Amino acid sequence: MAKTFKNFIGGQWVAPETGQYFQNRNPADTTDLIGRFPDSGVADVAAAVKSAERGFQLWSRTPAPIRGDVLRRVGDLLTERKEAIANAMTREMGKVLAETRGDVQEGIDTAYYAATEGRRLFGHTVPSELRQKWAMTMRRPIGVAGLITPFNFPMAIPTWKSFPALLCGNSIILKPSEDVPHTATLLVECLLEAGLPPEVIQLVHGGEVPGRALVEHPRVPLISFTGSTETGAKIGETCGRMHKRLSLEMGGKNAQIVMEDADLDLALEGVLWGAFGTTGQRCTATSRLIVHRKVHDKLLNRLADAAQDLTLGDGRKPKVDVGPLIHEAARAKVEQYVEIGHSEGAELVCGGARPRGKSAGFFYQPTVFAGVKPGSRLATEEIFGPVLSVIQVSSYDQAVKVNNEVKYGLSSSIYTRDVQRTFRAMEDLDNGITYVNAPTIGAEAHLPFGGVKQTGNGHREGGWEVFEFYSETKVGYVDFSGKLQRAQMDIYDI
Ligand code: NAD
Repeated sequence: MAKTFKNFIGGQWVAPETGQYFQNRNPADTTDLIGRFPDSGVADVAAAVKSAERGFQLWSRTPAPIRGDVLRRVGDLLTERKEAIANAMTREMGKVLAETRGDVQEGIDTAYYAATEGRRLFGHTVPSELRQKWAMTMRRPIGVAGLITPFNFPMAIPTWKSFPALLCGNSIILKPSEDVPHTATLLVECLLEAGLPPEVIQLVHGGEVPGRALVEHPRVPLISFTGSTETGAKIGETCGRMHKRLSLEMGGKNAQIVMEDADLDLALEGVLWGAFGTTGQRCTATSRLIVHRKVHDKLLNRLADAAQDLTLGDGRKPKVDVGPLIHEAARAKVEQYVEIGHSEGAELVCGGARPRGKSAGFFYQPTVFAGVKPGSRLATEEIFGPVLSVIQVSSYDQAVKVNNEVKYGLSSSIYTRDVQRTFRAMEDLDNGITYVNAPTIGAEAHLPFGGVKQTGNGHREGGWEVFEFYSETKVGYVDFSGKLQRAQMDIYDI
């Protein structure tokens, strides 16, 4: 009998007020039921907000170094439980164990990085234009933070949001993806065991209904969302109308460029990992391979052979390279894009079908299309699956043009040995991140992460920048001259 899980609201694990639950199943084997999770409603979110407001009163007054100490202990607990959490994550999300271990490690890195910020959280002290007056900035927490996360990084993305939010003194309501509720539960257990006061965190399970309720709640002044550009657009409309602070991290259509002077062995390894790791379900996945015509045929032949050699299966088994897609709808979307590829005249080089044989998982063969036309749907739309579009170009300038002519702008990569071209590419490629001689994936916790154009709205996760998002900058002026001094009007002679 599978376990029935609960929400965490008001300092305790509670059943949803809706009385409804949804099933969480292993995408590699749908006969494996992980558990039943609350299908929460508007009333659950309302209760979470009330509790989080009480939590905020306590936590916002807790000194930042003490808040940091709690996060350090969270890092320790995640380290102790890394293997168990990685196993649970692969079971509910599908990606292979090496990747889910990396996902937990990103949470650990984020915890330790946030912990150290508790002893910095800088403001500035700057000179005043008047004598005997000090001018300074300081950081203040904002309030109840609503955090909405996607399925593909079940631990890393909730930690990217919750740890800096907490370090800055906010209380949080986490609404994780309905596809990966178990990993979120394991994270909340670590936060509570590390000594986070219970009402500082709320966990509300479910899908669009509690997500929307959180965004629309008038007493949640801050929303951080990672997910699809379509959902982000809806959230942006509401937050704009309600004047909420909003961070959006959304879709991508990332390209790896391979120039004629590239190390082709390295480029091949990079594209295999970038395109088919996490079954192509990364926001930074390599979805386009832009190749110079002089090395195109050679690289394509080797790529086709290598992609066909990848082993599909349950990500907990050794020697499996590629896990399943997250659910049937995701696989159906991939199938639809394979049809689109055929109808647009692209050449199917490998894959393009479900694996042969019976399986109770959402598997799909690693797929490569060549001859993809820039501007076509296959070349411009996010598929979020193991489908790679190869586009041939004749020059560096054309490669940049193709890279830049999509509505997304998350990550890009270029393989070349030309040092001048390397630096030009970092300027020319219209993305939030450019990798040189490395695949489109590989973010590190202490650097800002995010994209331009319709991938983001100007904020960043990770790095120092994220602490600016979760705190308000306040200015203090202290005049100790003992007289009225008027800025801009009392001009001092030297
Ligand atoms: P999704 O947009 O379907 O769902 C994301 C979250 O939003 C889920 O928790 C969902 O329940 C919630 N939600 C759905 N409708 C909502 C609404 N109307 N109001 C409020 N919340 C709502 O995305 P997904 O399928 O879970 O994730 C895949 C997408 O996420 C891809 O487009 C991918 O590129 C993107 N992504 C982006 C980044 C990044 O940093 N840029 C990182 C990871 C994933």
